Amino acid sequence: MDFTLTKEQKEIVKAARKFAVGEFTDRAAQFDRQETFDLAIWKKACDLGFVGAHIPETFGGAGYGYIEHCLINEEFWSVDPGMASAVLATTFGSELLMLCGSEEQKDLVLPRLVSGDAIMGCAITEPDAGCDVTGAITAAVKSGDEWVINGTKMFATNGTIAQYMLVFCQTDPEDSSRHRRHSFFLVPTDTAGFTATKIRGKMGIRASDTAELSLKDVRLPARFLVGKEGEGFYELMEFFNRTRLHVCAQAVGLARAALEDSIRHTKNRRQFGQAIADFQVTQFKLAEMATRIRAARNLYWEAAWRADGGNMDHSLVAMAKWYTAKVAVECADEALQMHGGYGYIDEYRVQRLYRDAKILEIYEGTKEIEKTIVARDLLR
Ligand SMILES: Cc1cc2nc3c(=O)[nH]c(=O)nc-3n(C[C@H](O)[C@H](O)[C@H](O)COP(=O)(O)OP(=O)(O)OC[C@H]3O[C@@H](n4cnc5c(N)ncnc54)[C@H](O)[C@@H]3O)c2cc1C
Repeated sequence: MDFTLTKEQKEIVKAARKFAVGEFTDRAAQFDRQETFDLAIWKKACDLGFVGAHIPETFGGAGYGYIEHCLINEEFWSVDPGMASAVLATTFGSELLMLCGSEEQKDLVLPRLVSGDAIMGCAITEPDAGCDVTGAITAAVKSGDEWVINGTKMFATNGTIAQYMLVFCQTDPEDSSRHRRHSFFLVPTDTAGFTATKIRGKMGIRASDTAELSLKDVRLPARFLVGKEGEGFYELMEFFNRTRLHVCAQAVGLARAALEDSIRHTKNRRQFGQAIADFQVTQFKLAEMATRIRAARNLYWEAAWRADGGNMDHSLVAMAKWYTAKVAVECADEALQMHGGYGYIDEYRVQRLYRDAKILEIYEGTKEIEKTIVARDLLR
């Protein structure tokens, strides 16, 4: 396996880093405190080709592979996770449309995501259905040529700002296997009966919009069914294989930021007449962080590299998802510790990294669910 980046990939890294440093650094604390974001920054990122880089050229994207898309994610997250999420998660759901959407659906949505004319999201979680996605009860019922949707979705990223939301609905409550009960629908958010309420008070990634969705008699033409009726669960699993790779990149980016802040702080902060970086215990912490980050990156790069080669390995993706997230959480914790009391106040980025890191072990498959996937394959 050769994980050396090509010249083009190195250019992508450089450009993404430059954009994130230039656009995120000065405003990250403000957006975090206010739980807001300036969509002009997202538009700028679209103009420069960072958003939807994985979308095929026929739909206006760069047609990049997983590696390239992950590199952009990693660089953005290495500057500020909240703003990175606000910019790059605007295409969340596009992976599913690319997998199983109709040409009409793709034509409608994908070019607009790339050009900065639309935002999308994907709503699976419900108040009583989190890890157990098969427990989702938002109902889609056929009525003549239409589907009528009723239900509530929780924690939908981009809920109040998206033009399109993919909604995971129950279409066959009688299916005894529970795995052929659901189907996806493409819901334009201006459809009558759709409302979104922003969820405030998140611990981290506070620049990113999160909402509770209510769907009351939302009527959709039959052509808004995405993929095959009853195949939603399997389509979701394929979708997650792709988006979990992005989460791995987010985690490694965040861990890198934690290491960067730790090095800077421990070289400058003096105690007992010397820089705290001169204590061997500090040096060991830095060495361990760097080693874990390297191991985490190699793991997810292998998964992304295999996916790019057409060999998606869901067990490897699950390993990479929980491990990279763990490394991010541990690195943020250790980094804050090395900042002492200064790490505990919001003038320093490290406290934001500490708060931002935790979501990586929760969304798109909790660490317990990821380990369950790995173990199931081991024991099969
Ligand atoms: C900021 C944010 C953004 C999000 N964005 C989205 C989004 O865009 N779309 C969307 O659909 N959802 C989104 N989510 C929801 C997220 O995916 C869920 O929170 C996650 O899947 C866990 O579900 P839950 O919160 O209901 O926890 P629960 O399912 O109630 O789990 C609670 C705990 O129990 C554990 N547990 C549950 N079942 C098992 C089991 N079988 N074995 C072992 N342990 C288990 C879990 O691992 C977890 O630790 C988001 C959440 C947040 C906080």
